[in-house]
Amino acid sequence: MNILVVGSGGREHALCWAIAASPLTDQLFCAPGNAGIAEVATCVEIDAMDFDGLAGFCRSEVIDFVVVGPEAPLCAGIVDRLEAAGFKCFGPNAAAAMLEGSKGFMKDLCARHGIPTGAYARFTDGTAAKTFIRERGAPIVVKADGLAAGKGVVVAASVDEALAAVDEMFSGRFGSAGTSLVIEEFLAGEEVSFFALSDGAHVLPLAAAQDHKRVFDGDKGPNTGGMGAYSPVPALTPALEAAILTRIIRPTVAAMAAEGRPFKGVLFAGIMLTADGPKLYEYNVRFGDPECQVLMARLQSDLLPALLAARDGVLDKFDLRWHREAALCVVMAANGYPGDYQRGTPISNLQPAGELPDVVIFHAGTQKLGGRVVANGGRVLGVIAKGPSIAAAQARAYEAVEVIDWPDGFCRRDIGWRAVIRERGGA
Ligand code: AMP
Repeated sequence: MNILVVGSGGREHALCWAIAASPLTDQLFCAPGNAGIAEVATCVEIDAMDFDGLAGFCRSEVIDFVVVGPEAPLCAGIVDRLEAAGFKCFGPNAAAAMLEGSKGFMKDLCARHGIPTGAYARFTDGTAAKTFIRERGAPIVVKADGLAAGKGVVVAASVDEALAAVDEMFSGRFGSAGTSLVIEEFLAGEEVSFFALSDGAHVLPLAAAQDHKRVFDGDKGPNTGGMGAYSPVPALTPALEAAILTRIIRPTVAAMAAEGRPFKGVLFAGIMLTADGPKLYEYNVRFGDPECQVLMARLQSDLLPALLAARDGVLDKFDLRWHREAALCVVMAANGYPGDYQRGTPISNLQPAGELPDVVIFHAGTQKLGGRVVANGGRVLGVIAKGPSIAAAQARAYEAVEVIDWPDGFCRRDIGWRAVIRERGGA
């Protein structure tokens, strides 16, 4: 088969790496890709939002299957567009991508179908939103309804902070994403990212991962796209996993089908393990990044047939095998990220680092300039290692980080800390 992966981050590198290993793959393309992806796929200079350009490419290269990585093209209807042109796609259509594209839609769906999530209200008016916040008190969570590149959520510790968030969101900073708000109950607990494939009717659970959103060690500093991740998640017992599937994931897939928006693709549930059991705080309609990188490192089975089965509605006949080992990803970012940072700084020693046993390096934002790999984004590399425990995977990943020579980059030094404490018999 000829496959096209759409996107350019660490997630897409991990997907290309898995798909390139499939015996079903003849030619693998990635649009637009990056310097690391170019080692396993042919990169083509077409933007992920250029649907005409992508459809034309699918036609000229006789593409059999398109795998869409990021949320923006999914929410904008890339799957509707390419399927109408006769190309099979992995990912939800625009109607189903609303689960991520509108937080209000997601909350209303949960309310209609009894899916456990925090209490909430929706607002299009600042005064009413502020009255509600004053009545409820803090902590409280303020969310822009639409896609805001991970910046539309404020977990406010005080009423004043929540009121300021309302003003900021209605200020126009988030464009149309901020014309409507969801104000949500603060959920206390440990966060887990849970992933499952859906073909519109059936669910195939993948695995869980935990990421690290804050930029500095000890979960301090501003939020980022994610500074590292690991899988499996020791906090997630088989009983909790079963509860997430039966109370949250399966009812969501059934609800979407019942409402005429069957969900095909990968559901990424943000779950809080609260004292009252698992509760959903967000849905994403694509793989997480960096979570996808550790899931692909752990996946033993061929990924491609599973993605095809999700598209074709035959996931019920499917099973996947996973490596027993844990996988851990340390993200290396450009100095200054998530604020201003420099592009174009040179990175070396990627090859010896990637040749360490049980290590693989995925590129999130790189470019090749004059034969050298240079940084081309905020999050630049994902350094992934496997090991018999999270602690072993962590040690190996940091060994590889030490080999990489990039004076203009940094990483957190404590990825996996919660799981490592648990493995040592701590709380
Ligand atoms: P997001 O950008 O949507 O991934 O959300 C950012 C972060 O906000 C999540 O990773 C959670 O840590 C936090 N969050 C979102 N909703 C809630 C909630 N209802 N209670 C507590 N934390 C939340």
